Amino acid sequence: MTNKNWDIQFVYFDLDDTLLDHSYAEHLALKDLHEDATLPLVARSFGDVHQAYRKINPVVWKKYSAGEFTKVQAKVGRFEQLLGALDLPSPRSNSNEHSDSAIELADRYLACYADHWRPIDGAFESFELIAASLPVGILTNGFSEIQRAKLKRFPELADRSNALVISEEIGHLKPDLRLFEKAAADAGVSPSSILYVGDSLHSDVGGGLGAGWKVAWFTDQSHDSDNVMTFKEWDKLDRVIGLTR
Ligand SMILES: [Mg+2]
Repeated sequence: MTNKNWDIQFVYFDLDDTLLDHSYAEHLALKDLHEDATLPLVARSFGDVHQAYRKINPVVWKKYSAGEFTKVQAKVGRFEQLLGALDLPSPRSNSNEHSDSAIELADRYLACYADHWRPIDGAFESFELIAASLPVGILTNGFSEIQRAKLKRFPELADRSNALVISEEIGHLKPDLRLFEKAAADAGVSPSSILYVGDSLHSDVGGGLGAGWKVAWFTDQSHDSDNVMTFKEWDKLDRVIGLTR
């Protein structure tokens, strides 16, 4: 890996599947729901439940991002759709927009999901090392109360951060330029001297490049270009911004 000679003045980190292992927590939360014999998912195989959820959730999230779904429609609707996809009953009480079983699954899911939050291997060490030399921040898509709860659970992230930008609190989601512009204003440096560290090609690489930032894409793929470096080992990221462990 050659040094990029980037003049980085501020580093923003994505939260889910970059600093925190969201996919792991999601997987185990679904497993917890599936193993609870009082919940309807027990009637199907875990493989079917997991596969259906992974298919439904991104579509629901996309509609929420586009403003087609409200927050509740996203949070609860994904479980209503899951029950429908698995051909499980989802009866609705008279005045409720969503079925009781979908509401219960959505509530239980969030509790189980929070039980399984953990850092991505090596990410916190790198975050700390970078934060010791440069101002850093968190820029994340997600519901405010959930992302804030994660930052409360892992205070070492928020304590070291000079900026916290959560999409729901701003009203725009990555890769929307307006969210990146707000983050750049909070950072107080020019866009071209901001590095964004994230895992999503669409939200993070697309959004960062669109805003004129540099991007460190956390991925198995290798697609370095002028303004993008790819990495899977965190010490590679440290080296590129000129830091050593
Ligand atoms: Mg992410």
